[in-house]
Amino acid sequence: MSSASTAVTPSSLIRPEIQALHAYHVPPSTGFIKLDAMENPYLLPQTLRDELARLVADAAINRYPDAGAYDLKAHIRSVTKLPSGMDVLLGNGSDEIIQVLAMAVAKPGAVLLSVEPSFVMYKMIAAFTGMRYVGVPLTQDFSLDLQATLDAIKRERPALVFLAYPNNPTGNLFDAEAVKRIIEASPGLVVVDEAYYAFARDSFIPHLAHYDNLLVMRTFSKLGMAGLRLGFLAGSKAWLEQLEKLRLPYNVGVLPQLVASKLLQHHDVLLAQAASIKQERTRLMSVLSDIRGVKAYPSEANFILFRVAKATQIFEGLKQRGVLIKNLNGGHPALADCLRVTVGTPDEDAKFIAALQDSINQLA
Ligand code: PMP
Repeated sequence: MSSASTAVTPSSLIRPEIQALHAYHVPPSTGFIKLDAMENPYLLPQTLRDELARLVADAAINRYPDAGAYDLKAHIRSVTKLPSGMDVLLGNGSDEIIQVLAMAVAKPGAVLLSVEPSFVMYKMIAAFTGMRYVGVPLTQDFSLDLQATLDAIKRERPALVFLAYPNNPTGNLFDAEAVKRIIEASPGLVVVDEAYYAFARDSFIPHLAHYDNLLVMRTFSKLGMAGLRLGFLAGSKAWLEQLEKLRLPYNVGVLPQLVASKLLQHHDVLLAQAASIKQERTRLMSVLSDIRGVKAYPSEANFILFRVAKATQIFEGLKQRGVLIKNLNGGHPALADCLRVTVGTPDEDAKFIAALQDSINQLA
């Protein structure tokens, strides 16, 4: 019983823009060959797993974590080779950092601008925080439309611009000179989101010192730590000091701090896995491109976007054959008949290709 005269309901209380959202959909994946979420498919070497087991056994999980994550941040700084004067802010995944950034600048009417199609959380978090979202279409081959982006920046004066570099779900790396023009033209912050940095040939980390309004965000999710939930934002202390106020004090737990610190001491192991994934990406790209009716897009990430007729039926055909990928058909108009597959192990990819070929044949 509500004490008020009229009963409170979700539709009367929840903000209309939240009611209009669809929750980020994560399908059940038990029993599938899981190629839907850009995870690293490789386990760690046994000796390292044993070392982690001992560390976890001795961890003081009765205590709150180190709120400043001193050790972990030192390891991140050292593997990331930050320019001098730069520091990092940690997030429970980089998703959380997007939210911190938006909360920090969400004055009434403030704009969050990105390109489309890109990572859907930029738009969702704009809605969470009451920001106005502006999406500038990419060109047909998913490059930046520089003139349209500059025009939109001039018109909308965004407080926050997100550019995923490489982009998700398209996989391509935008032209670095175009990104620089966008940074120079922006009246607010530009966040270059390098979630897929381990698989790409370029980074904006070295440019941090050149632009006062540039921040670079990364995650360890794609490098083999998706289960830990750990991302970071690199930038000048002047920005991070303010953003730190919005970070919840214990957002990175004792176990993620311990395990990630240890793994970053073995960064070479993770980088070797990333190198195998890149090699396998080249192979998968060529096999996919050879399938009649499939158009695969070049990728600098650990996934490949491809277009195929009757994509939703193909996606269902793959599922029936035990392979889970991501169906992008029906989302953004530029992604009609598009599917996205994460690069798996050679064995997983062979099963995916066989299932794909089979599904295509069945529908022919
Ligand atoms: N940015 C981009 C471009 C992504 O694709 C993803 C994950 N799909 C993220 C950020 C978020 O990653 P996480 O929260 O796991 O760090």
